[in-house]
Amino acid sequence: MDPIVSLLSSLLENVRPLDAGEPAQYIPELASADPERFAMAAVGPRGVVRSVGEDNVEFTIQSVSKPFVLALALAMHGRDHVLARVGVEPSGEPFNAISLEPNTGRPANPLVNAGAIATTGLIPGSDRHERTATIVAGLSRFAGRALTVDEAVYESESETGDRNRALAHLMRSYGVLHENVDEVVESYFRQCSVLVTVRDIAVMAGTLAFAGRNPLTGEQVVPESVARDVVSIMTSCGMYDFSGEWLMRVGLPSKSGVAGGLVSVAPSQFGVGVFSPRLDSHGNSVRGSILVERLSREFGMHVFDRH
Ligand code: GLU
Repeated sequence: MDPIVSLLSSLLENVRPLDAGEPAQYIPELASADPERFAMAAVGPRGVVRSVGEDNVEFTIQSVSKPFVLALALAMHGRDHVLARVGVEPSGEPFNAISLEPNTGRPANPLVNAGAIATTGLIPGSDRHERTATIVAGLSRFAGRALTVDEAVYESESETGDRNRALAHLMRSYGVLHENVDEVVESYFRQCSVLVTVRDIAVMAGTLAFAGRNPLTGEQVVPESVARDVVSIMTSCGMYDFSGEWLMRVGLPSKSGVAGGLVSVAPSQFGVGVFSPRLDSHGNSVRGSILVERLSREFGMHVFDRH
């Protein structure tokens, strides 16, 4: 067996017995996820994807989409335009907090729901279908294959999405969102419902790790400066209200999602994806987080390690 695969496999098997946490309950379709699923993938600079566990199971991308849609918005509009709509400060609050800057109404950062909805609003499209098509095509370029939307999860998100709708309307009242907010929120729900495997999200993370160039397809998906901006924001804000401790313990720019996906970026080294649906109280995958922490330690991947 390839030595890296056997190392990944033994890490996975060591963490597998942990059964703390539970799948996200607030969206019915996510609550019914099989909690035992567990997989990890890593991609290096030459585009070799190594994966272990249930690496062909699809799950919805959820908040793991946020840094990638941010990258698309930055590539289309530039930094100043994006920063006029959304800040880049860690909120220290849960993902769905109703917290906007007091004077401007700007959400704290693009990786909490409010900021992600504002970012989705920056993607052009005359209606939800056009905007969603642009987003799905962009996410597909990061993954290196054509991705699709899980309609059942989308319906479930939309039926239970009043808090996100409220956030969007609040932002419109401040003038942070100019677009038709109901259309933007439906596109955001579809963006969260894009189906991926752990291999897909590893390649997506790899595209950020390798300066915006997809290691599998060789395509420059976004400019290097955009990849650097996104990775910077993931470093400070990617793990909800656990981002500070995560940076200290694991030291990898990361982003988690409530379906149990987690991506980590080891700049110029690896893109990593993990999937395990049981979440901790912050909304991060329990086994996924421990696995990445051990991986980072094993390979000396902490960004502040001496390399
Ligand atoms: N669809 C979820 C929401 O906006 C995404 C949350 C997440 O993964 O953090 O509620």
